Amino acid sequence: MDCLFCKIVAGEIPARKLYEDEHVLAFHDIAPQAPLHFLVIPKKHISTLNDLTVEDTALAGHILFTAQRLANEQGCEAGFRVVMNCNEMGGQTVYHIHMHVMAKRQMTWPPG
Ligand code: 5GP
Ligand code: ZN
Repeated sequence: MDCLFCKIVAGEIPARKLYEDEHVLAFHDIAPQAPLHFLVIPKKHISTLNDLTVEDTALAGHILFTAQRLANEQGCEAGFRVVMNCNEMGGQTVYHIHMHVMAKRQMTWPPG
């Protein structure tokens, strides 16, 4: 499958990894939008949030708790932002779901 993030999971494209286990991988974003900006992805290919199924409930929770734990390990006690973009109007550009975690600057609302 021609998927950028599956290639990162497979080690075919390098990434600055923060954490990896059997089910998820976390790595720094190549074009950070904040001083700290990393992505948490499932190792399993899921194209968009709309493709999550009830069987993925534990995986989705694991992604969320991995984001929480890593943010706190990276010293984000002042706060952080989590974003998941879905499809074109949601701003998604890589069609393998990923949770953005951004921190270490003041976030504003609404996002662009
Ligand atoms: P999306 O726009 O789909 O929500 O987010 C995709 C993210 O993946 C973007 O923030 C983009 O900078 C990041 N990205 C795209 N290609 C690469 C890559 O090859 N390596 C890494 N580490 N991040 C990437
Ligand atoms: Zn993929």
